Amino acid sequence: MFENKERTDIAELGEFGLIKHLTENFKIRHESSIKGVGDDAAVLSFKDKEVLISTDLLLEGIHFDLAYVPLMHLGFKAVQVNLSDIYAMNGIATQITVSIGISSKFPLEAVEEIYKGIDLACNKFNIDLIGGDTSTSKQGLVISVTSIGYAEKKDIVYRNGAQEGDLLCVSGDLGGAYVGLQILEREKQIFLENPNIQPDLEGKDYIIERQLKPEGRRDIVDLLAQMEIIPTAMIDVSDGLASEIMHICQQSEKGCTIYEEKIPIDPMTYETARELGLDPTVCALNGGEDYELLFTIKQDDYAKLKNDLDISIIGHITDKNSGCKMISKSSVVHELKAQGWNAFKL
Ligand code: ADP
Ligand code: MG
Repeated sequence: MFENKERTDIAELGEFGLIKHLTENFKIRHESSIKGVGDDAAVLSFKDKEVLISTDLLLEGIHFDLAYVPLMHLGFKAVQVNLSDIYAMNGIATQITVSIGISSKFPLEAVEEIYKGIDLACNKFNIDLIGGDTSTSKQGLVISVTSIGYAEKKDIVYRNGAQEGDLLCVSGDLGGAYVGLQILEREKQIFLENPNIQPDLEGKDYIIERQLKPEGRRDIVDLLAQMEIIPTAMIDVSDGLASEIMHICQQSEKGCTIYEEKIPIDPMTYETARELGLDPTVCALNGGEDYELLFTIKQDDYAKLKNDLDISIIGHITDKNSGCKMISKSSVVHELKAQGWNAFKL
C-alpha cells in the first residue's frame, strides 16, 4: 500500500520517539482532562457526574481488511465506533485512549495515517486523546480504543428500561454499511483476479462511506436533549437492527412489534442490495455497523419528535410473552431472529 511512498523505519524513532511523534500535536480541550499523555496514568476529574467507559478491540482480518480500508479511515472508524457506545448511554464523550499493535514492517508513514484519522475524529467530536499503549504485533494490526464520557445520573439511558406501549425509534437509515461492505468485497475479488482492473465504485459513494466512515450519532443525543426527551432504553446499532432490538427486549423483559415498511432504508442501499441479489430488509435487520441509535420513548413524547425526518418510529414495545415480531409489507407476521454478525462464528 505504501510501496511508492516514503518509508521511514519505525525502529529509527524507538517506542518513546514514536509515541511523542504521534501524539504531540493532539490538543487537550476538556477541563476534565487534568493530565493526558506523558505520565504513568492519565488523570481525569468529572466532579459530580457519572463516568461512562467503553472499550472496543479491532483486529486485522477479523474486523477490517487492509485491502480496501484506507488507514486514515480505519483510525477514524476505530474512534467513532467507540464514541457511539457513549452516545448510546445518552452521554457526552470527552476522552479516548488508543492502544495499537503494529508489525515492525509497517512504516512510520502508515501509522501516521491511522493517527490522522484519529485526529480527525477527535477534532470533529471534540475528544481528547489522553493515553494508550504501543507494541509490535506479529499477527496483523491491532487497534483498541477506550472511550470515556460523562452524564448526569438522571440522563443515563440503559438497555433495560423499555416499558409496554413505548415507541421504538431509530435514527438515520440502516443496512447501508453492510451493502457497502459487499461492494468492497466484490471489488476486492475482481482485483485479486485481475489487478489491472480498477475498482468500480461509481454511484456507490454513500454506502461506501457508511462502511468506511461511519459517524456516531452525537447529534441525536443533542437533539433528544433539546426536545426534552429521555429515552426509556437505548442501544447503538452495531450488529444489526434485529440483534439490537432483541437486546433491548431481553434486558427490559418485554416483547415488541415492528413494521417492515417503517424500517428506514436509503434508496442506494435498497437498489444495490437488489443488484446483489440481497433482500434490503434482511440487510437492515442483520447487516450491522450502521452506528445509528435505536431507542424507546414514552407515547407522551411522540408529539415532540414525530416531525423529525431523521428519526423513524418502527414499532412498539409489547409484553414479554408476545415475543419480538415483525409485520412484513404483505402483513405476514415473522418472529425476529438475531443473526447479527458474530465474531466467534468464523
Ligand atoms: P508505560 O511503560 O507506563 O506503559 P508508555 O511508555 O507505554 O508507558 O506510555 C507513555 C505515555 O504515552 C503514557 O501516557 C501512555 O498513555 C501514552 N501512550 C502510549 N502509547 C500511546 C498511543 N499509541 N497513543 C496515545 N498515547 C500513548
Ligand atoms: Mg505502555
